Amino acid sequence: MAQFRFEVPETVKQGELIRIKTNATGKLHATLGKTSVPLFPDANGGMVGLLPIAVTDKTGVFDLVIRTENEPVLFTGKVNVVNGHYPIQNIAASSSMKSLTPLPGEMEAMRALNTTVTPEKLYQSPFQLPTSECRNSPFGVLRYYNGKPSGNFHRGLDLRSAMGTPIHAPAAGMVKVAQMFRLHGGTVGLDHGQGVTSHYLHMSKVAAVEGQRVQPGDILGYVGSTGFATGPHLHWGLYVHSIPTNPERWVERLRYCPSPAPVAKKTIAKKK
Ligand SMILES: [Zn+2]
Repeated sequence: MAQFRFEVPETVKQGELIRIKTNATGKLHATLGKTSVPLFPDANGGMVGLLPIAVTDKTGVFDLVIRTENEPVLFTGKVNVVNGHYPIQNIAASSSMKSLTPLPGEMEAMRALNTTVTPEKLYQSPFQLPTSECRNSPFGVLRYYNGKPSGNFHRGLDLRSAMGTPIHAPAAGMVKVAQMFRLHGGTVGLDHGQGVTSHYLHMSKVAAVEGQRVQPGDILGYVGSTGFATGPHLHWGLYVHSIPTNPERWVERLRYCPSPAPVAKKTIAKKK
């Protein structure tokens, strides 16, 4: 009888990923709570899967269950989902920012990007940084606009960058979205395969075109302050099976900005 091994972490933070590895094969999927994801063949003849935990998911100990297509359970393990301790961040949002509405089709295009699951793995880990600049707003922070809770959290991280700085593909992928949107601003969305997608917002100029295959380092566009933005920066989102997760976990090194931007026209963010 085949001996199957399953590698699953015991603990995961809200907004982070559960990486699953097994030598079992077939059409497998893993489920925790309401989230169910497929596993994909890896280079060693086994299978791997990425199960995202949303920032807003409940904390506690949950069963992670791996099943075959016909539902027999191959594995059940306990995973402790722990608090991500995401702080509050206030944004000074102007009335023109708050009245921004998406273009017809804009939200649909972003949703279609985020829910893309291409079976082929196009990317290699780790990712490169899309710009060399520092992080001035982390992933997951609970957003207040002008001191009032917005009900939103930060679904990506912000890299402070000068207007016009080139934005590079951090990993290989297909360009699914390349548009001048109204709410998201100049936007490029990449499909990296196997349920991993990323997006780059607020560009002053979009350089990539939809349907283009990109390699790490290819220029996607240029930093700007278009859409819902208070100053030039790159918003980098990384979704796994349509759930926003922390892009920071995909890169080796990330510098944190020492202080708010000294020469920004308006303050990008006031941290608590
Ligand atoms: Zn952002």
